[in-house]
Order: sequence, then C-alpha cells, then structure tokens
Amino acid sequence: MLNKIIIANRGEIALRILRTCKELGIKTVAVYSTVDRYQKHVLLADESICIGLPQPKNSYLNIPAIISAAEITGSDAIHPGYGFLSENANFAEQVENSGFVFIGPKPETIHLMGNKISAINTMKKIGMPCVPGPKEPIKNTIKKNIKIAESIGYPIIIKSANGGGGIGIKIAYNNKHLEQYINIIQNQFQISCKNNEIYIEKYIDKPRHIEIQIISDGKGNVIYLAERDCSIQYKHKKLIEEAPILNINKNIKKKIIKYCIKACIKIKYRGVGTFEFLYKNDKFYFIEMNTRIQVEHTITEMITNIDIVKEQIKISSGYPLLIKQENLKINGYAIECRINAEDPNKFIPNSGKITHFHAPGGLGVRWESHIYTGYTITNYYDSMIGKLITYGKNRETAIAKMKNALEELIIEGIKNNIELHKKIIKNKKFKKGKININFLKKIIKNKK
Ligand code: ADP
Repeated sequence: MLNKIIIANRGEIALRILRTCKELGIKTVAVYSTVDRYQKHVLLADESICIGLPQPKNSYLNIPAIISAAEITGSDAIHPGYGFLSENANFAEQVENSGFVFIGPKPETIHLMGNKISAINTMKKIGMPCVPGPKEPIKNTIKKNIKIAESIGYPIIIKSANGGGGIGIKIAYNNKHLEQYINIIQNQFQISCKNNEIYIEKYIDKPRHIEIQIISDGKGNVIYLAERDCSIQYKHKKLIEEAPILNINKNIKKKIIKYCIKACIKIKYRGVGTFEFLYKNDKFYFIEMNTRIQVEHTITEMITNIDIVKEQIKISSGYPLLIKQENLKINGYAIECRINAEDPNKFIPNSGKITHFHAPGGLGVRWESHIYTGYTITNYYDSMIGKLITYGKNRETAIAKMKNALEELIIEGIKNNIELHKKIIKNKKFKKGKININFLKKIIKNKK
C-alpha cells in the first residue's frame, strides 16, 4: 500500500480523500494556497506545505510546486481530486516521470479520454452510440462550419473538447448564432490562454443526463457501480444527482454497460471513471468520460457500500480489483444536493465569512464539507461549499430525508442555494421523477 500521499486539492474533496487515507493508515500531506491555511484538511493532515498565492495558477495548478512538495516530504503518490490538475495528462506524466504515483489513469489514457473529441471517436470504434455530428474540431471558415451545422440540422450545440462544468457550451438555432457563438467561445479561450478545440454536434432536446460509474484496475478487472441521474442542472452544471435510476429501459442500459466495460478493457483503463450520456426515448448518446473521482461519487457509495476513494488508492498501490460484479449489491436510493455559495436567483458566486453554521444529521444523512462557523469563502475557487447526501430504502424516503436535512442545514453570512434546493425537492414533477436537463430552467422561469 502507498505510504504517504500528497492531496493536491482543497475543500470538501481534500477532506474526503484525507479521511480515507487515515482509515487506510496512509500519511497525508496537504498542499495549500495562502488563503487556505485554515482549511479543515490542512489542519488534520500529518504535514502541510504552502505552495503559493490564491490564484489557482499560482498554487493548485502550479505543477513544479506540487511535485517539489512531494520530493521534500518523501511522499510516494499524488491524489489530484477533481477539477484543477485531475484531468491534465501533462501533470500526470510529470508526476510519473518524477518517480511518484499519480492516483488516476495513465497519462496516455487521460490524453485519449480527457479530450471529448478523441474519447467519442474511441467509443464510436467499439460501437457505442454517440450524438450525431462529425466529431472533429470546427473548420477555420464560417462557410465550412455552416455547411457542417446544416448537415447535422439545427439546433446544434457548440462545445469545447477540454471543457468542464458546462463552460464553453452554447446552443445555436441558426447560422447567425453559429458564427456569433463560435467567435465568443474562441475569444474566451484566447483571453484565458487555454488551448482548446471546439466542435459541434446535434442538440438533443430535453434529454436526461445519465452516467455510469466504473472501477477498473488496468489488469482486466472492471466493475460498474450502477448509474446516476444528473439531470438537475443550471447552465449545464450539475446541482442535484441521484442513484440508482428507476425509469430506464433495462435492456438498453445493459447493452450500454457492456460497451463501457469493453472500452475499459480495450484501453486498459486504470482507476475510477465515469461514462456520461444523454438519454431520451430509450436511446443513449455518449457525450464524454471523466477520468477522475467525481463530485457525485458519494451517492454511488451510499447504494453500493463501497468506498470509491479507497478502491482508487488500492488500485494505484498496484492491487488488483477484488470486488466481483456478481457480489455487488445495489441497495436503497441516494440523492445529493450541491450546496453553493451563490446568489440563488442570479447564480453568481458569493464570498464572505460564515457567521453561523449548523450541519444536519440523523440516519441516512451525510454532510461532506469543509466549512465551519468563522470560515471565510473567497472568490478564487468554485462556489460549491458542501454536499448534502441523503439515503433511504427508496427514492421517496431519500427525498423525505433531504427535505428534513435541508430544513436543518443553516449557513448564515453568505448567500447560498439552500432555498432553491428546498423548492426543487418539494416540486411535484421532481417527486414523480419527471426530470430532464431543462427542468431547473423551467422552475427558475416560473418564479419570475
Ligand atoms: P462538461 O464537460 O462541461 O460538463 P458535457 O459534455 O458533460 O460538458 O455536457 C454538460 C451538459 O451539457 C450535459 O449534461 C447536458 O446537459 C448538456 N449537453 C451536452 N451536450 C449536449 C447535447 N448534444 N445536446 C443537449 N445537451 C447537451
């Protein structure tokens, strides 16, 4: 087993990783930015090292600083969490070339599956159904791009191959939109100096977002840990997730799972990963793969009773995956609400000091967060400040528990989205499971 791990992240996921390391008897090193000195995981880690100023590029994206921290502390591995450097193939390569274990897939796998265009092309080769579209970067003239869009048929969606969190996604309904939005996205990338490829595909109207969690050891052992529905989104960013999924065509799902497992074996996938799909009228469309631990892994843990971070660390330590698909039981139902420090009406991040905090509790309630009374939220990082997870024997119970837990959760001093979650959880259509990716847009529209 690994001996000492650098946790190259912050917030709730850093704390989540730290807890599993402690349980496994692995020493931990927290690397943090100057504003994160008093993060919970920094205070709980065996060692901690400040790696730079708050702006991510100076700290959590600062590759030499993170690798130096591993050298200085005699660590043997680096866990990237999610976001930041977690899907950066260059980082994974530098970590391995410096003699450390990268807790994630091999750099070449990240390169292949972290880029949406090459991931889709890889999946297409094994027969996976994908969204109609050419699956190549856009052309350099608008005339050529119009030709492609018209051959797909409007509406189309413009996406970036290395995007995440819904960034750089726009829907075009005609040629004018197409030109305008391509320019906007290209300018955004130019400003942020990010090298990115843009592609277009058919816009699927009101599908559900469904994803499949897998664990694979790169040695031929792969298991799938049920599905998640992440349809409750705003601006293509997830807000509520649930698992497993009830109203889905079981035969088609089985076929899709087979493709996912086939892909893992073919690319010798090592680690935990998620295949993401759009689902409509009994049809799945593969959209991307996340080659890392995901925010919403918690709900899968609740229904499978498997610590996904533990399995990730064990695989990175060189152990084969010992859990067999036939022994894996799916029990009950879990829901997760992402608690964000943001204006619930405008969805704009909010910073400031938490003047009062109270966590919910009770049977089937899990609270994953780094915040406490007196904690200051800055505007340097993502606005998610906690994940509220409830678990019950069925969806109804999980919803009833979530309603209570949201009532109990108190966060004062900053704007947050607790009230919005309460509204969604109480919604009649949500309760009936009648959801799709446009659900939240409608709720917000009806409020105004
Ligand atoms: P990101 O990596 O930024 O999360 P994804 O490719 O996973 O981007 O897409 C995020 C969300 O955008 C999806 O969950 C879905 O709501 C929407 N989306 C993506 N592709 C399409 C599409 N072809 N048609 C309709 N909606 C889409």
